[in-house]
Amino acid sequence: MRVIQAKSKMTPMMQQYLAIKGQHRDAILFYRMGDFYEMFFEDAEVAAKALDITLTSRNKNDEVPVPMCGVPYRAAQAYIGRLIAGGHKVAICDQVEDPAAAKGLVKREVVRVVTPGMIVEDAFLDEKTHNFILAVAQERDRYALASLDISTGTFRVAESEDARAVAEEALRIQPREMILPDAGEQRSFYEQLRRRMGETATTLVDAGEFRYARSRRRLTDQFATVSLEGFGCEHLRAAICAAGALLGYVQETQRQKVAHIGGVETYYLDSFLWLDDMSCRNLELLKNLRTGTRQGTLLGILDKSVTPMGGRLMRQWLRYPLLCADGITARLDAVEEAAMAHTLRAELRQHLKSVYDLERLGSKVSMGQCNARDLLALKESLQQLPALTARLADFSSHLFSWDTDTGPLADLAAHIDDAIREDAPVTIQEGGMIKPGFHDGLDALIRVSRDGKGWLVRLESEERARTGIGSLKVRYNKVFGYYIEVSKTHSKSVPVHYVRKQTLVNAERYITDELKTFENEVMGAEEKRAALELSLFNGVREKVMALNPLIQAAAGWIARIDCLLSFAETAALNGYCRPGLNQEGTLVIEDGRHPVVEKMIAGERFVPNTVRMDQKAMQVLVITGPNMAGKSTVLRQVALLVLMAQAGSFVPAATAEIPLTDRIFTRVGALDNLSAGQSTFMVEMEETANILNNATPRSLVILDEIGRGTSTFDGLSIAWAVAEYLHDLDGQGVKTLFATHYHELTELARRKRRVRNFNIAVKEWNDNIIFLRKLMEGGTNRSYGIQVARLAGIPESVIKRSKKILFLIENDEHLAPKLSDNADEPVGEKGGAVQIDLFQSGEKAIVDKLKALDVTRMTPVDALNALDDLCRKSRSL
Ligand code: ADP
Ligand code: MG
Repeated sequence: MRVIQAKSKMTPMMQQYLAIKGQHRDAILFYRMGDFYEMFFEDAEVAAKALDITLTSRNKNDEVPVPMCGVPYRAAQAYIGRLIAGGHKVAICDQVEDPAAAKGLVKREVVRVVTPGMIVEDAFLDEKTHNFILAVAQERDRYALASLDISTGTFRVAESEDARAVAEEALRIQPREMILPDAGEQRSFYEQLRRRMGETATTLVDAGEFRYARSRRRLTDQFATVSLEGFGCEHLRAAICAAGALLGYVQETQRQKVAHIGGVETYYLDSFLWLDDMSCRNLELLKNLRTGTRQGTLLGILDKSVTPMGGRLMRQWLRYPLLCADGITARLDAVEEAAMAHTLRAELRQHLKSVYDLERLGSKVSMGQCNARDLLALKESLQQLPALTARLADFSSHLFSWDTDTGPLADLAAHIDDAIREDAPVTIQEGGMIKPGFHDGLDALIRVSRDGKGWLVRLESEERARTGIGSLKVRYNKVFGYYIEVSKTHSKSVPVHYVRKQTLVNAERYITDELKTFENEVMGAEEKRAALELSLFNGVREKVMALNPLIQAAAGWIARIDCLLSFAETAALNGYCRPGLNQEGTLVIEDGRHPVVEKMIAGERFVPNTVRMDQKAMQVLVITGPNMAGKSTVLRQVALLVLMAQAGSFVPAATAEIPLTDRIFTRVGALDNLSAGQSTFMVEMEETANILNNATPRSLVILDEIGRGTSTFDGLSIAWAVAEYLHDLDGQGVKTLFATHYHELTELARRKRRVRNFNIAVKEWNDNIIFLRKLMEGGTNRSYGIQVARLAGIPESVIKRSKKILFLIENDEHLAPKLSDNADEPVGEKGGAVQIDLFQSGEKAIVDKLKALDVTRMTPVDALNALDDLCRKSRSL
C-alpha cells in the first residue's frame, strides 16, 4: 500500500484503519463510518473501478490526498457480492461499540471476511451447484484434498499417492477458491496445481497451518471427538493436514462458530469411474462448450430434480459414476420401480416441490444468518416429511427408505408453526414475527400498545367534555411524542395543568403528565416487544440448531429420492431402457441414441445405432466416413451411455449391456474442440499421452480424429501407432473407438487381431451424398469432402475447380509419391512396411534439398543461387 504520510502526522482514525488493514492485506477492507463502509488507498481505487462508483479523496487539501470511496451500509450486500464475483475478498470492519458511549475513537474490528469460496447468501449462490472451497496438501509422499461448501456444511476429504490424480480431482471439484500452503520445499507440485487450476482464486496460507498435529486437533475440537476414526480418515495424514488447514481458514474468516460442520466424509478416488476434466468438457456433461450453460448437456437432459439439494446431488452422481456393481444395481432397481409407478411418482414429486433448500437453511440457521421467513420455509419443508414417508413405503427399494424417527422434526415443524407468523417481515429487529398466543408476556405487551390506541380516543373525548373545546385533538409526532392540540381561539379555555410546548399559526400544542406517563408505557411496550420477539425468535432458532444434524440427514435423504425420481422421470419420458452390467468387458448397445443430440436435431429423425465391443474380437473399432456423417456422435453416445449406466440411470437404447468401466478417456481432434485457444497440437499430444499412460484393460477410450493438428504424414503415423499401442496394452488391449478421416487406418484391421472397421453409411446420388447415419461393418475409401463442401454452400465454380485439382493429384505420379516407413521397424503383427498413399509433402522436398547442401564448400554466388531456388520452391507450395 502506498502510505506516504508519516504515521505520526495521521489522524487516530487513519492509524486505526492502517493497523486493521495491515492484518488483511489481501482483502478489500470495508471500514464502517456512520452509515457507510469506506475504502481507502488502493482498495478504493480497485473497488471504485470494479463497482463503478465515484472515487474521491479524503483530505483533499493535503499534499497527498488519500483516495477514497464508499458504499451505503444498507446496500453493502450487493456491492460485496459484485466484488466476490470478481474474485476479490472483502473484510468487513464494523464498529464494535456504541459510538455514543465510546470514549474517543470508536473501537472497530473485522467481523467477517467474505471470500469467493465462503458465501452463505442465497443471492450469490447457484441453487443447484455447490460452492466449494478447496485445500490441497502434500504430506511426505502423499497428496490430499479437502473440500467444503460452507453454505451446506458438505465437507469431504480424499488422499492419494498419485499427484496427477489429485490435481485432476481438484478440477473435478471445481472450487471457487483454493488454499495452499505457502511452502518452500514441495513447490513444484503446488505450482503445477495452480497452473492447472487456471483462474481459481488462490490464497497462500502459512505452512504451519497445515501441520498434522495442529490440524488434527482442530478437527477433533470442531467435531467434539477424540479421534477421526469415525470419519474414516484417522490414518490419512495428508487428508487431515488439508482438512485441518481448511477448517482453520474458515474459522479465521468467519470469526464465529461454524457448528453446522459436524463431520467430514472420506472418499476414495478409485471408487468412482474416472473421467478427466477435458473429457468431461468434450462430452458436454455439465456445460455446453459453446454457450457455457447447462442447455444441451447431459445434465440438462437428465436433471429433472425439483429440490436444490437434489440438483446438487444429480451433478455429483454424473460427475462421480460408481464402479461397484452392487451400488449401481441398487440405484437401477430403485429407478425401475419409480419409472413404472407413474401416479405415485407424480405425487411424490409434487410433495418434493414444497421442500426448500434444507441444507442451506440449516446452515444459515446455525450461522445465525436466518430470519423468520427462513424458519417458515423450513417448516413447510418439514411438513412434507410424513406424506413422503407414507407414500414411499409402497416402494421396496431400500434407497427410498430412511430409517430414522422423524418425530422430532414433526415436533419442530409444529413448534415453528405455533411461534412464527405467516406474514413475518424480512428483518428480525422490529417485531411482527411471533404469533399471538405463543407467549403470555408478549401478548400483554401487544395489548398495551393496542389498548393504548383506545385509551387515546377515550382521553380525547374526556378532555373535550371537560374543557368544552369540541375541536380538541390528541395527536402524535416524532418530535414531542403525544400532545394535545387546541385551536388559538380556544387557548384561553385550557386547564392550568396543560403545559404549552409549541405555538403554531392557528393552534397551540400542550402536553400533560398523564399523557407523558401513557407515552412511556406505550413506547416502552413497542421497544420491549421488539426485544422480546427477537429473544423468542432466537429460542426457536436454537431448537432448530439443536436438530440440525437430523435436518441435514433428512436433506440427504430427500436429495437421493429426488435424484432417483428424476432418473425415473427421464427414463419414462424419453423411452430409456434398463442397462445390464457385466464384468467381462462386453458392450452391446442395440439401437442406441445420443441422449442430447436426439433432443436437439430439428427436422431430422435421430437414427439409432447398434454398437458391439468386447475384449476378444471387437476391441478397437476404426470408424471412417465423410465429415458430418455422424462419427463423433456415435462415439460420444457410447461414452455417455456407459457413464449414465454407472451413475444408475437408464439409457437411450432398445437394450444395453454395459461393461463395468474404470475410466473413460476422450480425445477430440483439435478442429473439433470448440474451446478456442486450446487447439494446439501440443495440447492434443498431452492428452493423448495421458490416455496412453493411464488407460487400463477395463477402460473405454474415445479417439476422435487424432493427429489432425499436424501434417498429414505425422498425423497418420501417430494415429496408427496410438491405435496399435491401445490394441496391445498390457497384453490385453483396451476398448477403443477410433474415428478417423485417414482411410489408411482401415489397413490396421488386417494386421491386428481385435481391430474392426466400421463406417457410417452415405448414399451417392447424382454426385451428391445423402447421410444415412447408419453404422455399418467395413471401411470406406472415399472422403466425399467435395460433396460435403457443396452441401455447405461453397460456390459451384470452386467445387468444379477442386474436382479438377483432385483428379490431377490422384493421377500425378510426381505429386503423390509412395511413402513407406522405416523398414527395420516392423509395423503390425506380421511386420513389414506399410504402404501409404499420402498427399505430397512439399516441405519435405525442401528440407531434403537443404540437408544436401554443404555451405562450407559453396561460393557466395552458388549459395545465393541455391537460396533463391529454395525461396522460389517454397513460394510455389
Ligand atoms: P462427424 O463427426 O462424422 O463429422 P457428427 O457426429 O459431428 O459428424 O454429426 C454431424 C451432425 O449430424 C450432428 O450434429 C447431428 O445433427 C447429425 N447426426 C449425427 N448422428 C446422427 C444420427 N444418428 N441421427 C440423426 N442425426 C445425426
Ligand atoms: Mg466429428
